[in-house]
Amino acid sequence: MSSAGWRTRAPPPIRAVRCETLQKADGLIAHELAHQWFGDLVTCKDWANLWLNEGFATYFETLWEEHQYGADEAAYSLWQNRNSWMNNQRLYPVPMVNRNFKDATEYAGNIYGKGGWVLHMLRQQLGDAEFYRAMKHYLETNRGQNVVTADLVKAIEQATATNVDQFFDQWVYGAGAPRFKVGYTYDEAARQVKLTVEQTQKVEDRVGLFRVPVEMEITTAAGRKNFPITVAQAKDTFTFAVDGPPLMVLFDKANKVLKSLEFNKPPKEWIYQLRNAATVPGRADAAKALGEMRHDEEVVTALGQAALKDGFWGIRAEALRALGHIGGPSAQKQILAALANEKPWVRQVAVEQMGSFKDDPSVATRLETIFREDKAYRVRTAALASLAQQKPANAVELLRAAVGIDSPDDRLRIAALRALGTLGDDRGVPVLVEWSATGKPFPVRLAAITSLGQLDRKNKSITERLLAYMAEPYRAVRFATITALGQRGDAEAVAPLEALLKSGELSERQEQVARGVLERLKQPPVAPAEKK
Ligand SMILES: [Zn+2]
Repeated sequence: MSSAGWRTRAPPPIRAVRCETLQKADGLIAHELAHQWFGDLVTCKDWANLWLNEGFATYFETLWEEHQYGADEAAYSLWQNRNSWMNNQRLYPVPMVNRNFKDATEYAGNIYGKGGWVLHMLRQQLGDAEFYRAMKHYLETNRGQNVVTADLVKAIEQATATNVDQFFDQWVYGAGAPRFKVGYTYDEAARQVKLTVEQTQKVEDRVGLFRVPVEMEITTAAGRKNFPITVAQAKDTFTFAVDGPPLMVLFDKANKVLKSLEFNKPPKEWIYQLRNAATVPGRADAAKALGEMRHDEEVVTALGQAALKDGFWGIRAEALRALGHIGGPSAQKQILAALANEKPWVRQVAVEQMGSFKDDPSVATRLETIFREDKAYRVRTAALASLAQQKPANAVELLRAAVGIDSPDDRLRIAALRALGTLGDDRGVPVLVEWSATGKPFPVRLAAITSLGQLDRKNKSITERLLAYMAEPYRAVRFATITALGQRGDAEAVAPLEALLKSGELSERQEQVARGVLERLKQPPVAPAEKK
C-alpha cells in the first residue's frame, strides 16, 4: 500500500519556489518526496498505522520550511498548527493509532497534523543527533517491509538506548494533549517565583494526565534565566529563586509541547512579552492574548507597533489579527498604517481586517484601489472579500468585472465569485450561473456553486440547476452542491437527496452533511408571525 498518490487526484499548481505574488507549493513537494522513504521504502501495515506515512510526510514539510526559510518560519507554522489542532473537538479524544473509523480520511487531522507535531516533540526530546540516527536506523532495518508503530519504537530504542514507551503511550496510543492553566506569584522577601500549573483536560477514555518536560524562562532586570521542569500531575507547584521581581515569565518558551495554555497575566506583562520574547511562539502568544483585551489604548498602541516593527512577518500578521479582533477607531488606524508593509502576507491580513471596519466610508474606496493596484494576488483577493463585506453601492459591478479578469489558477475569478455570495445581491446570479456550468474549471465551479446557495433563494431554476450538478460523478462538485442546496432551503431537493443517500455513492463525510441538509429541508417553514 502506498500513499504517494494520495494528494495527486486534484493537483494544485506545482511551483518550486515561494513567490510572493502567487501560492507556494514547495511544502506539498517536500511532503510527497518524503513519502519515497516514509510510505514507499517503508510502508505502514494497515490504516490504523497510517500516521507512519502521513505524520512523517507532514513533518518533512516543517523540516523543509526550517531548512529553506529559517527557524522562525517553521516555529510559526507549528504554532498555528498547534492552535488549530487544539481547537478541534472531534479529533481531540481520538488516538493517532486508531482502528475505529468508517472512512480512511475521517481522522486525517490526527494522522497528518498531530502526527507531524508528535514527531516534532520526539525530535525536541531526543535532540537532533539522536533523532536522525533513530530515523536512519528505522528506515534501514525496515527497508522494503511493512511496519507498525511498535517497529518505530523498537528502532528508536535500538539506535538511541532511550526508552520512549511513556512518550508513545501518551502521544500516539493515547488521545488528546494537555490543556494547561498557569499562574504565578512573586515573593519579594524570599526572592522566589511560585508557579502553579494545572492540567484542565477532562481525564476520560483515552485522554489522561500528561508527563512532559517544559522549559521555563524568567526575565528580571538582571536578565533571562532558564528553568527546566517536568509537569506530571493534575496540579503541580514549582518555586524558582530569582534576583528580583519578574518582568516576563514564559512557560514552554519555545513551544516544544503540543498543548493549549491559559496564562493569567496583566496587560503590561503581555505587552512586555510581545516586545521582548526571543521566540516567535512567545511573541505570537502575547499578540493573541492582547487581542482579547479591549478598551486599553496601551494595548492598541503596543499591537500597532508590533504590526509595523516586529522583525518577523508572522508576528506583524498576528498583531493585525489581534487589532481586528479588538476593533474600534484607534485599532482601525493602526491596521491602515500596516498597508504599506513590504510583505504581501502582512498586507493580506491587514486587508482582511478591513472587511469589518465600521463607520468609515473611505474604506471601500481604499479597498478598490488595493484590488486594482497591489502586485500580489493574495492581497487583491483579500480586497475583494472585504469589499463584499463593506457592500459599497458599486460592489456588484466591481465583482462582476473582477470575474472577467484572467489570473494564475483563476485566483481573482474564484475570489470574486465567492465575494458575490457574501455580498448577497441577486444581480450576481447570472455570472454565477455561467461559471458554475459543467466544463468550467473545478475550483471556479465550486466557488460559483457555493455562492449560488446564498442568492435568489425563491428561484426554482437555480435549485434545478444544482440538482443536475449533484448527479455528476465528481465528489467535490457533489459536496459543494449538497451544501448549497441546504442553504437554499428548497424542499424540492429532498427526494433527489434521499435517492443519492440510498445509492451508497457518498463518502462517510458527505453522507453526514447530506443527512444534516435533509433534516433542515424537511422542517416545516416557519411562518413570519412565529418568528421572534
Ligand atoms: Zn501524504
